[in-house]
Amino acid sequence: MNIGVIGTGYVGLVTGACLSEVHRVTCFDKDAEKIKALNAGRVPFYEERLEDVIDSNRHIGHLSFSTEAAKQLENMDVIFICVGTPQGKKGCDISQVEAVAHMIKACAISPKVVVVKSTVPPGTGLKIQAILGDRHFYVSNPEFLREGSAVNDFFHAERIVIGTESEAALQVMRDVYKCFNGKRLEFDVVTAEMSKYVCNCALATKISFINEMSNICERVGANIDCVRKVMAADARIGKAFYKQGPGFGGSCFPKDVSALFELSVDLGYPAMLLSEVLKVNSFQKNQLLGKLVKHLVLKDSRVAVWGAAFKAGTDDVRESPAIRLIEGLLSCKAQVAVHDPKALGNLREIFGDKIQYFPGDRYDMLRGADALVIVTDWPEYKYSNLQLITPKIIIDGRGCIDKYDAEEFGKTYEGFGV
Ligand code: NAD
Repeated sequence: MNIGVIGTGYVGLVTGACLSEVHRVTCFDKDAEKIKALNAGRVPFYEERLEDVIDSNRHIGHLSFSTEAAKQLENMDVIFICVGTPQGKKGCDISQVEAVAHMIKACAISPKVVVVKSTVPPGTGLKIQAILGDRHFYVSNPEFLREGSAVNDFFHAERIVIGTESEAALQVMRDVYKCFNGKRLEFDVVTAEMSKYVCNCALATKISFINEMSNICERVGANIDCVRKVMAADARIGKAFYKQGPGFGGSCFPKDVSALFELSVDLGYPAMLLSEVLKVNSFQKNQLLGKLVKHLVLKDSRVAVWGAAFKAGTDDVRESPAIRLIEGLLSCKAQVAVHDPKALGNLREIFGDKIQYFPGDRYDMLRGADALVIVTDWPEYKYSNLQLITPKIIIDGRGCIDKYDAEEFGKTYEGFGV
């Protein structure tokens, strides 16, 4: 099958690369620099195993990259739309998806199966089908990959959701995915669209819930890590995703929860729980700085930060709690030095030369620092040698260092919920 993927970002590149194990895939992007880099064998972001999958499939001619979507669409049987759907002024901005739909309508003469993988609000399918007209078949196929394990998630998906009103398109989608693992869940379009938002809102709600409980634990002197063990023993509650920290970030949860909230307002039912989930998260993102100022006058002090990525396993810093922390530190005129094994390039695009970047030895960069703040749960931070951590103050957003060990070493330690 010939497959075109429009939008070669995180989702588009992973989708195109993984599908090219089985099909002939062309990934398109309007960003000529990105396509040039990919054609030169450079992968624009870090994701485990992705480079190998791309290399091997380019080599056998199954995968190619191009900026010329309009010229080549006619050769495709299936077109995946994987462009961005950023947070707009009010809700989710689907204009990039609409623009691609207009291009398909103008350039694809024979009928195509048009698959939207971008996360779009329920109801978008109707708008896009109206742009495409009767010639093409519309499918909603929301993506559930997790940055950091995206390739594995694609090959061994927990579920593959296909929403369409067309029996013919459904058959084509079954063929597209026939060699990939994952429970098939086939619905109408709006249910498929809604399922993606409900899943992300459920996960975000779990995080805000445990963060709120963790904040109460701190105030009553209870330990959230022990409380979590009690929760986990109850099969109705479980433990997945109940981990306290400096708030959720990334390119999905913040924007998707906001988008569903905005949609609910438009529908005359302002979702009460979702608005609180966002409020708790915003409060939580200020906590790193709040805990630090209890112990340090920030002006002219030097603060070392471990972790810029919004979570381990990715170089993505979008909506990372590190951004809010660094902005706060800079506005208080502190000097900031950041260590991260993968994400410093993306951080530099935001902060330029306002801060210092250390990709190497994480202990070396602590020299002269008054405080260390741990933001990202990179595994190596969990195996840290307290003897080599020189700052007196440690603010530990991810429970990487044991509070009692730190205090034995004479540190002033602030964690979350302990
Ligand atoms: P991204 O910003 O990394 O990539 C989008 C790409 O689309 C960019 O490279 C951009 O240049 C390109 N593009 C935009 N308009 C184009 C056009 N007209 N023609 C060709 N290329 C075009 O975004 P992403 O993180 O891959 O997310 C894409 C969608 O998938 C979003 O809706 C997002 O919410 C959803 N999603 C993301 C993740 C994730 O973990 N990143 C997971 C699930 C779903």
